[in-house]
Amino acid sequence: MRLVEFDSHRVGVVNGDDVFDVSSVLGPWAGTPYAMTELIARWDECVDAVREAAANAVPLPLRNVRLGPPLPRPRQVLAAPLNYAHHVEEMVGSHQAPVSLQADHNARNLGFFVKASGSISGPADPVELPPIDGRSFHHEIELGVVIGRQARAIAPEQARAHIFGYVVLLDITMRVDRDHEEERTMRKSFETFTPIGPWIVTADEIEDPSALELSLNVNGDARQRANTADLIVGIDELVSSASHVLTLHPGDIYATGTPDGVGPLQPGDRIDACISSVGHMSLPVQRRPW
Ligand code: MN
Repeated sequence: MRLVEFDSHRVGVVNGDDVFDVSSVLGPWAGTPYAMTELIARWDECVDAVREAAANAVPLPLRNVRLGPPLPRPRQVLAAPLNYAHHVEEMVGSHQAPVSLQADHNARNLGFFVKASGSISGPADPVELPPIDGRSFHHEIELGVVIGRQARAIAPEQARAHIFGYVVLLDITMRVDRDHEEERTMRKSFETFTPIGPWIVTADEIEDPSALELSLNVNGDARQRANTADLIVGIDELVSSASHVLTLHPGDIYATGTPDGVGPLQPGDRIDACISSVGHMSLPVQRRPW
């Protein structure tokens, strides 16, 4: 199933080119930014009602609605650093990487970092670059994992049962340079620096999440091409490891890391980000108006 948030926090099921509003299932949560989180938390008891509501809903053409981030207020956004070997290679020794970065660093020995959940934006929102002169802002396409069931100290073999679904995710980043080395959390947490969407694809629709093609173009030029088969730390291990640090909750998001080919964005650019079997987002880049 493909689940969207649209217009004023309506929750819908996408079928073909239409959206079917299922917000009625959500009772008092309908129309709030927590609607999708609540739906995920109550999925087992709600799924039949969701199917019924979708079957009875009037189809709304997708082009006539405004899609929001499918999870506008995730409680936690965790992210894997350096989880594709070629990306590690391109960053080591770069003046755009922290000076402490070593060739043997990757998500296995570094664990995860956190992006502020306030950086989340949706598939209809522009990426807004803050007015900070002389800095480089990079795109990073990543498979985003959406947690479905509370997970505490689970084994990798149990991870799949705790995953609700997947999103296309961009981890937009202000790079360090020779004169600046701010905290990573801040550099990756500017508002609109975590676009997710265009919908959540439920896990049952993804036969093998470790065999998905990622592609990112800027203005039609290929920048990033990879397959999740090349993740250094796989999805199940990422979720398991994080669950030994803290409890993961329904609607939490895990950004699994970006492959090589990261590069600068400029106002006026258009980003096309696609993950096979998950979806495609086309986002304009503009200067932030504030
Ligand atoms: Mn990243």
